[in-house]
Amino acid sequence: MAGEGETRHEPSEDWALGAAEIRRRLLAWYRKHQRDLPWRRTQDPYRIWVSEIMLQQTRVAAVIPYYDRFLKLFPNVSALAAAAEQELLAAWAGLGYYSRARNLQKAAKTVLGMPQFPSDYAALRALPGVGDYTAAAVASIAFGRPHAVLDGNVLRVLSRMAAERGDIKSQVVRRRLAALADALLDRKRPGEFNQALMELGAMVCVPKQPLCGECPVGRHCQARLQGAENRLPLNGVRPNGSRCEIHLLWIEKGDSILLWQRPSASKRLAGFWELPEREQLPAAEVHGALGRFRHTIVNTTYLVHVYRAAMKGGVGGRGGSSHFHWVAKRALEGLPLSTITKKASARASG
Ligand code: SF4
Repeated sequence: MAGEGETRHEPSEDWALGAAEIRRRLLAWYRKHQRDLPWRRTQDPYRIWVSEIMLQQTRVAAVIPYYDRFLKLFPNVSALAAAAEQELLAAWAGLGYYSRARNLQKAAKTVLGMPQFPSDYAALRALPGVGDYTAAAVASIAFGRPHAVLDGNVLRVLSRMAAERGDIKSQVVRRRLAALADALLDRKRPGEFNQALMELGAMVCVPKQPLCGECPVGRHCQARLQGAENRLPLNGVRPNGSRCEIHLLWIEKGDSILLWQRPSASKRLAGFWELPEREQLPAAEVHGALGRFRHTIVNTTYLVHVYRAAMKGGVGGRGGSSHFHWVAKRALEGLPLSTITKKASARASG
């Protein structure tokens, strides 16, 4: 595989001179073909910020229902800052990466203490949970500030347009592509341009088999001109993911189900409710299998087995019986449940 040391195809002078045409063609394409997404119908920085945080590591289609519901519950910075933690986590349950929700609330409390919603890159970047990408996205989309975004879609599009042969996971190559993004940015319409480039990556310059025949900037694309669009970008070797098995117990008592709540100091999913694992309740009687499924979190694939079980006597498992509670089944919907527990419950009650 080629590395950073390999001779790189420099973007030609023609290509550099074509920047103005690239902007024009890309924006014209975007105005005609952009998807109608709820966060594109607003200029409210709060709503744009919430969408950008939700879209980190999560697909657009999965985000839309959460986004609408979240904004009904917390329509502005004050409502989010004042939300009870359980209510906040329940609204986020299923989206994963829950530190995003906690950081959103921390940031909302910080913003409340400011005279207005921060509009410049540095002030946005200083908020909890806001990284380089999110600061550039909110600054450009909500406030028209000239900051180029660099997310996975943009990295892929630009590495193909410049026929970048280095590993896009390396810092050196990222800096090169960041400079290119900055040089290409339409400084009069930075928000629209950033969204257009991301949309091109999502809809046309897709990871496998890019749709070059439909691409508005194909004539300026070095990868296409070199017939290399299916080989780029180079992104190193993916580490092998790990696997593990989990055995969950579905224990009923009347209309209630036995759950445990993760303590607030838990590193993962603090405050969330889970079905007990077999190891937590060694005294439980297992009566039979209810189903199994796979669930992947980052690089780990969990094979989850769900069993019907019963408790004789009280709950005195490992991890402290104080975390276990009998919860009415009808109340499950309003609680922050981990995705694994949601999937397991669907199998147990389905
Ligand atoms: Fe991507 Fe093909 Fe367009 Fe190049 S021509 S930017 S590879 S879709």
